[in-house]
Amino acid sequence: MLEKRKPIEVSEAISRIMEKVRPMQNETISLYNALGRTLAKPVYASHDVPPFNRSPYDGFAVRSVDTKGASLESRIHFTVMDHIGAGDLATVALGKNEAVRIMTGAQLPNNADAVVMLEQTVHTADSFTIRKPFAPLENLSLQGEDAKKGEVIVESGSYITPGVIAVLATFGYTQVITAKRPIVGLLATGSELLDVSDPLEPGKIRDSNGPMIAAQLQRLGIETRWLGVLSDNLDACFQKVKQASEECDVVITTGGVSVGDFDYLPAVYERMEADVLFNKVKMRPGSVTTVAYANDVLLFGLSGNPSACFVGFELFVRPALQAMMGSNKPYLPYSRATLGEDFTKANPFTRFIRAVYESTPNGVFVSPAGFNKSNSVTSIARGNAFIVLPGGTRGFKKGDIVDVLLLGVDEGNEKWVING
Ligand code: AMP
Ligand code: MG
Repeated sequence: MLEKRKPIEVSEAISRIMEKVRPMQNETISLYNALGRTLAKPVYASHDVPPFNRSPYDGFAVRSVDTKGASLESRIHFTVMDHIGAGDLATVALGKNEAVRIMTGAQLPNNADAVVMLEQTVHTADSFTIRKPFAPLENLSLQGEDAKKGEVIVESGSYITPGVIAVLATFGYTQVITAKRPIVGLLATGSELLDVSDPLEPGKIRDSNGPMIAAQLQRLGIETRWLGVLSDNLDACFQKVKQASEECDVVITTGGVSVGDFDYLPAVYERMEADVLFNKVKMRPGSVTTVAYANDVLLFGLSGNPSACFVGFELFVRPALQAMMGSNKPYLPYSRATLGEDFTKANPFTRFIRAVYESTPNGVFVSPAGFNKSNSVTSIARGNAFIVLPGGTRGFKKGDIVDVLLLGVDEGNEKWVING
């Protein structure tokens, strides 16, 4: 007997998943391997930056009092007492009308409080004149102007960019505390599926979802535990998914979640006594996407249709994994753009259309990336975004402003902001 499935909104599906997410344990890794990971602790400034008053220019360190009254008509003369580069310390204290030749980045001599740029002087090897007065602290890079000791510089949950690496290095953190990356088991189901290396046979197709999801995981910095291609067989699927749920933090399957005679994932979840969070979502493609939960493990049953599978991963799997890794921005980045062409189809459910999103001097545009059926594989290769059209609408026109979710961008959104 066919069970009647009750469709829920995408936002509701996402929140049911996110409620089940448990953060991974932390681990300490080398700074040099930290790019792309997520900070599990905030980065505090362990000292002021810069740690001392320094010269931002090549020039002369002076006492500002000695520059008073300088003018074009009455230039003031200074004697150069010392010469320091970045990393050196001056060996003299300045007396009246004395200066130290100083290079960018060098610490200011003790009683100097201004820097005269080389271009602001007429100079010889050991003296110079100036034609204007300098205020106290003029042309200085002041201790603590960039960061004050004890300040939080980067929040916990931040994605580690090259810029975050620079900050960690500044404060001497050779080790970084991050969440462990989840072990994600991946299984493709379907008796029609061949391995990528197999020659094509009548009635069969190659498994493209397996390599695609592995790549989507790789984009999040997660290695795949590949469990292989499985034919549509209830016992074999049950064994494999059950075992995977014992060995992995998350299990992803593709295929077998529809209501066909050989779609066994619903029966697998039942036999596992898993809690089915939902099995029908008001979205196209991928309305049959099913997510279950057993023994603290999320079981993502993605549609076998390639486009639907891709969308299901980005909408549901990605934020769950990002949140498990402690990200404070787990959702796909959101934008709005001008529709570049008409889209006349009706949208009974929220529609996610593979799309090309581009910024031009005339504005930000987004257009469908070609053949956009749920079973399309080629359209997945095109585009860098989803156009999101709300359910219960039809007839979007070129020039309309539409919601967009961006793909392949490292940093996400803090919230899921799309209605529906
Ligand atoms: P299913 O979700 O199992 O009903 O599959 C829906 C459609 O997606 C069918 O046309 C399948 O042949 C196709 N399909 C299923 N799994 C894969 C896969 N791993 N790679 C490519 N296509 C697939
Ligand atoms: Mg199938």
